Parts: sequence; C-alpha cells; structure tokens
Amino acid sequence: MPNPIPLGVFGYPAGHILSPVLHNGAAEALGVDYHYLAYEVRPEQIGEAVRGAQSMGFRGLTITIPHKVAVTEFVDEMSEDVRLMGAVNTLVFEEDGRIVGHNTDGIGWLRFVEETTGEYPKGKRCLVLGAGGAARAIAVKIAQCGAEHLEIRNRTAEKAAELARFVEESIPGAKASSGGLENLQEAAAGCGLIVNTTSQGMWGDAEREAASPIPEDAIPESAICSDAVYIPPDTAFLKAAERRGAKTVRGTGWLVYQGAASWKLWTGTDMPTDLVMQKLLDALDKRIKGED
Ligand code: NAP
Repeated sequence: MPNPIPLGVFGYPAGHILSPVLHNGAAEALGVDYHYLAYEVRPEQIGEAVRGAQSMGFRGLTITIPHKVAVTEFVDEMSEDVRLMGAVNTLVFEEDGRIVGHNTDGIGWLRFVEETTGEYPKGKRCLVLGAGGAARAIAVKIAQCGAEHLEIRNRTAEKAAELARFVEESIPGAKASSGGLENLQEAAAGCGLIVNTTSQGMWGDAEREAASPIPEDAIPESAICSDAVYIPPDTAFLKAAERRGAKTVRGTGWLVYQGAASWKLWTGTDMPTDLVMQKLLDALDKRIKGED
C-alpha cells in the first residue's frame, strides 16, 4: 500500500501546535490518504527544511511562528494576500515544481465572521486591537472588504500608526487611523466590528486570562466582536461582549477556517468544519485540564 501523502507544519517550538488535530481530523472524516505532522524547525534551517519537504513529496505545509516572514525568501510565487500581509502561513508544492506561498488568516477569518453573523465588514466602522501579525492580516482584509473606516489601537502606538499608514497606502480607498489603548470608549463608539488580536484573554496566566482588551462599557451593543485568542474559546472579551448583547465570533472558528482554506489549497476538498471544530474543542479542553 502506498504511503499517505505528507502534509505538515513547521514551527519553533512545535510542541503546542494544534493544527494536526484539524488536518488529520479532516483526512479521517473524508477518508482521504493524507497525514499531517508537526515539525520543529530551527530558524536557520527553514530554507533547507522547505526544500527537503518538497523533495520528499509533501503536498504542502503550514508555516507558523517564527518562520512566517523568513519563508517568503524561499517561495517562487506569492499570493496577493502574502504581499499585503507580509507573511506566509501556507505553502503549496505545485506539481510543476513551483513553491507557492499563501496566507489564509484573513480569508479564513472573514468566512467565519460571515457564516457566524451573516454580516460583512463592508460599510462598517471597524476597530482592531493590536498591531502584530494577526492584526495586519485582519486590517488588510477589513480594508479590502470596503470598511467605512478602520481604527487600529495598540499598546505600542507607533506600531498601530505604521499599520494604519500601510493600509491606507496599499489598499485603494482605505481610510485608517490609529492610537494607543487609551480612550477606547471613544474609539469604539459607532463601531460595527471590533477585533481583538492582542494576547489579552489568553490561557496560561491568570491575570492575562481575566483581562479584556477593551472595557465592557465601551463595547457597542450592536457590534460584532471577534477574538483571535482561542484558548479558552470563551475569552473575557467575548463574555463581556455577550453581556452587552453584541454578536460574538470565537477565535476557535478563525483557527479552523484558516486551516480549512489551507486544506482546500492542498487537497481541493472542503474541510468538514463542524466535525473538525468539535475535535479542536476537545483538544483545547484536554490542554486546559492538563491532560495532553
Ligand atoms: P504578535 O505579532 O506577537 O502581536 C501581539 C500583539 O499583542 C501586539 O499588538 C502586542 O502589543 C499585543 N500585546 C501583547 N501583550 C499585551 C498586553 N499585555 N496588553 C496589551 N497588548 C498586548 O502576535 P500575533 O501573531 O499577532 O498573535 C496575536 C494573538 O492572536 C495570539 O494570541 C495568537 O495566538 C492569536 N492568533 C489567533 C489566530 C486564530 O486562528 N485564532 C490566528 C492568528 C493569531 P505591542 O505591539 O505593544 O507589543
């Protein structure tokens, strides 16, 4: 019997990576012969590792921290989203030998927001909290969708200003402004969409886990509130948004849907997202209980 077609994720460290749960779950559910493993690749070896995977018949790779920017040097082609987001999260090894870099973070997030809420950023005033890699992917996608205005707020205000400038210069018609984390009440007033891309709310540190990146009373009742943080699935921010009566969009959905977009690029098939979501939630529950 032939070996399964290899897929994998390159990161450093790699012990905590959850994407094998998504992709092996999809392969099992669909009865297709792919096998996905996590590999710890040192930063200085990323180029060799990518070429090695290609020669060993990998169909594609997920690329995660710290390789998302460095790997752009080793691709033959990159998608428009990679050019704008400055980072690759998915490689496809094409049959003709080309290595193509994609970024599925923005498109995965957008599909999940649309499926969960039936709404779209077009015409909305939007607030993005944070200015790192996840913020850049979301800011670009929000601007591409034709948001009315994008406000970017970050602990380090200069990084928010750089991102707002980049969005205005790169996406025709985009309007963006920026600031620090003060006066978020004012920044959020009239916003139809708020996205947290800071690590506030994340499990592993009690103080951080209890923190919402925005005060509860600053969240407009009519806003859609989306969190990048996925562990725990219901973060302090999403709980505060729910109490305000706002619509909430979990980080677990973002994680599954960016994976689903990568899976589609590799296999041409649709990931069974409901089933994969349950597998992810089970894996997160085990992690929180210290059982994995
Ligand atoms: P990153 O590039 O390191 O950016 C981290 C961001 O968090 C920066 O804006 C940083 O502000 C801010 N931050 C860190 N500690 C903070 C604090 N104590 N108070 C306020 N702001 C703080 O990381 P990233 O790649 O953008 O990822 C950010 C989060 O998104 C992570 O939790 C990651 O797991 C999650 N994520 C989830 C998905 C998904 O599929 N659900 C996808 C991508 C990312 P400074 O600039 O001031 O340091």
